[in-house]
Amino acid sequence: MASVRGNVQVDIDTCKGCELCVEACPQDSLQLSEKVNAQGYHYAVLIQDNCTGCENCALVCPDAVITVYRTPKNSAGKNAKREAVATVTNVRANMKITVEELPEGKVDL
Ligand code: SF4
Ligand code: SF4
Repeated sequence: MASVRGNVQVDIDTCKGCELCVEACPQDSLQLSEKVNAQGYHYAVLIQDNCTGCENCALVCPDAVITVYRTPKNSAGKNAKREAVATVTNVRANMKITVEELPEGKVDL
């Protein structure tokens, strides 16, 4: 992960300001905006240039409004090729949970 720079794009108009992405970011790269969107919600914004592209924010966003990009660290400035690595388009339809080993006793799934 150290050889890449991350970046995120938030669809401001559909963000509901739940703050889950802010809490999930290990880099403290995200914060809610002071402004509100058309729905009246403070939306998530990138506040620091230290995103690693770890994808945590996109994975926890219940409204699937974050796209994560990664760029090789040694690539040239604005012309660097960005690669989208995480766009969770529909969490409810695409989610798959694999349980390797169930704990002993009764488990309510
Ligand atoms: S990709 Fe990772 S480091 Fe970047 S903003 Fe999202 S949670 Fe933070
Ligand atoms: S998790 Fe998604 S909906 Fe919630 S604040 Fe972040 S971008 Fe907005």
